[in-house]
Amino acid sequence: MARRKTHFYQSQATAAAPAVPPVIKIKNELDRMRESMRDGLICLDTEGVVTYCNPAAQRLLKLEQNRIIGRLFLNLVDSPSGSPDEQPLTFEDAASALKQALGGGEARLVLQIPGKERYSTVEAVLGPYLDTDEGVMGALVNLRDQTHLYAEQEKLKAIQQNHSIGMLIIDADDIVTTVSSRFEVLNKELPSKKLIETLRQPHIASFLSFDTDLDRALSQVRQRREVTLYAEAAVGSKTQHLQVVVSPLIHGDRYEGAIITTRDVTTLVEKTIETNKMARLAGKHSRELSSLAELGGFVGFRFDQIYKKYLSMIGSLMESPHVSIYLYQPDSQLLKQVATSTNFHEHASQWHLNAYHPVVEAFLRRKPQTYTPEVDAGALSDDHMLTVPITYHSKALGVIKVSHRPSGYTAHEAKLLKLVASRLAVIIENWELYNEVNARRERWEAVFTFTEEGILIFDRDTKVVGFNPAASKLTGFTMQEAIGRSFHEVVRAMTPEGTSLAMLSPLRKVLEEGEVVTKRQQLIETKNGQALWTEISCSPIFDDSGNVTSGIVIISNIQRQQEVEAVKSDFISIVSHELRTPLTAIKGFLSMLLQKDFGPLTDRQQHFMDRVYQTNQRMIGLVEDLLDASYLESGKIKLKISPTAMEPLISDVVTELASKGFERQIMLKTNRKHKLPLVLADEVRLRQILVNLIDNAIKYSLPKTEILIDFKVQDGELITSIKDQGVGITPAHLERLFQKFGRIYNPMSVQAGGTGLGLYIVKNLVESHGGRIWVTSREGKGSRFSFSLPIAKQLPLLQ
Ligand code: ADP
Repeated sequence: MARRKTHFYQSQATAAAPAVPPVIKIKNELDRMRESMRDGLICLDTEGVVTYCNPAAQRLLKLEQNRIIGRLFLNLVDSPSGSPDEQPLTFEDAASALKQALGGGEARLVLQIPGKERYSTVEAVLGPYLDTDEGVMGALVNLRDQTHLYAEQEKLKAIQQNHSIGMLIIDADDIVTTVSSRFEVLNKELPSKKLIETLRQPHIASFLSFDTDLDRALSQVRQRREVTLYAEAAVGSKTQHLQVVVSPLIHGDRYEGAIITTRDVTTLVEKTIETNKMARLAGKHSRELSSLAELGGFVGFRFDQIYKKYLSMIGSLMESPHVSIYLYQPDSQLLKQVATSTNFHEHASQWHLNAYHPVVEAFLRRKPQTYTPEVDAGALSDDHMLTVPITYHSKALGVIKVSHRPSGYTAHEAKLLKLVASRLAVIIENWELYNEVNARRERWEAVFTFTEEGILIFDRDTKVVGFNPAASKLTGFTMQEAIGRSFHEVVRAMTPEGTSLAMLSPLRKVLEEGEVVTKRQQLIETKNGQALWTEISCSPIFDDSGNVTSGIVIISNIQRQQEVEAVKSDFISIVSHELRTPLTAIKGFLSMLLQKDFGPLTDRQQHFMDRVYQTNQRMIGLVEDLLDASYLESGKIKLKISPTAMEPLISDVVTELASKGFERQIMLKTNRKHKLPLVLADEVRLRQILVNLIDNAIKYSLPKTEILIDFKVQDGELITSIKDQGVGITPAHLERLFQKFGRIYNPMSVQAGGTGLGLYIVKNLVESHGGRIWVTSREGKGSRFSFSLPIAKQLPLLQ
């Protein structure tokens, strides 16, 4: 359809066209072409007067046709001046262009045509208007609107001016055609010269240097590649960083040169440098931190390895070739080098505390010391030195020294080294602690292993957690059998009759009340069923906050002791019985003889009979004592306790014994201001106690002295004291006084005679009454024996 329609119009037009001669036809065609051209066309005669102007030209020049034709071309182009930035088009420019065209050449003019809002840029190309014989009959001016193009160029320029500090254009031969630079030298030197050669001139190269080889860069540009390079320009004391972009100018296929733009990237570069520096610093810090973490992670005490690690770590952290570690030796007051990173010969591998040296200073002041050679000129070293103390809390253990670095040490580095030193301090301190604990443990282990005493440790559930070889020997259980078992399964308490006992109370006392249970005699059954007498002590083990965590039991074997005691008391009791009976019989017969039942005695006979009687009496006393002692031990003495009056007993005993001291003029005095309360006592035994003590007092009194018997009521007890002015007892002997057969030598003991059983029996008797006995004495001055007995509480009714 469309084709047919077109065809229809065409045929219509063809049909309507009048018949015209061919020459006219061509002229008409040409006219129409000129009329419809987008480019403006102006014809000038040889005088430069416009003879023709097509509509496009009118439009471009913004003038009516009648204001164009017939006017001088120069007047047309002269009136509009260039845009403010552009170099104004001068009359001479236009005239020379016209002259060139009329002379057969070609010329180009850029016209700025003012419009309502802005200039439009029109490019005028002038050429000769030739007749058929090639003669110049005028000029032809071809006008083309290049506003758009020029606007782009303007923009480009603006961009360049804002962002670039210079622009250069070179042609295909590297000759600089255009230059606009911030640097005046370049503006002056570069135009029309070979770029690279000019730039290499010393006075330019000295302030402007490139990071890339310029020859290579340009050869790349010639291969149509855009190249970016960087340059540094020294401006005063500052360095300006430039980014240089070289872009090839390509026309069609041809390389026509390059446009070189320069941008100031100083701030950017400085920022980048700063960022890099920070990144480097951050990297360094993270390395430092990880080094510190690594140093903290040491386990064990292989000091050769520890020092090696520390030396290398410090060396790299501090960038110091020489690192030394000194430790303080309290005995010699020396800071002794224990490790060093180099074989560098140093004249002192130790420093005395009175020396003046940064190592000693750091140690004494407990503060890092930096040594700067410029300040302390030449005295110590040509290099910088940093010393920091190795301190644990406030205790200084040694010093770390870094040195032989040409640059000084910063405060940050001092801090860092101090951190490292504190890590090392912990290791050293731990090592000392470890040694101490180890030594202590070894000592205890030796005690634990080799002692004769059985040691058993039990936890809060009374499970055995510790068991030594002696305990194993005592109980018959091996350590493996005992550990983890209940205490009662291992230490099986029993009565002498053979029934088993639960030894709960002492353990409870220890675990719950934290009390110590001392020396308890206990019969136990060993693993193989043997009965064994032991003495058991039990004490709590506390933790730091004072809680009982476990208990320790010490078991001693007293079987042998017990057997000996048993044999001894059996022996004593047998002997006593066998002796007492005949002695009593002898006493009876002697009494009868002395009473002259068998007739009169001569004086001599009487004298010896008296001696025999007294000796027999002493022997009876001795046997009585032995019997009493053995009865007391076997618990066979039964006391008949009742409220007993002290006064009559005292009077009796005093009367009875007074004669004994008579010869040596020893006076017995009873100090009794008040009526004495009744005491709870066995009268016979109380008498025995009094006889013993008063008899001793007389025996050991010095001649012409006094014995004072005194009473005191205190805390429900009656305290009776017998004070003599005798030989006294040395403090060292006081302890043995109340022991069995505890005879003590003194100036009178030989003469006094005795068995050393008296006080032993007295003590046991007093304690059987629920009382106590004690003595105070001064050698050569006398003694005071005191004993207490409970006062009988009188019933109100009886009062
Ligand atoms: P003995 O039968 O030897 O007197 P005792 O048990 O009564 O035995 O006394 C033990 C020792 O205590 C004596 O050997 C004596 O040295 C010392 N002794 C006892 N009483 C006194 C005293 N009043 N003054 C000084 N020493 C005394």
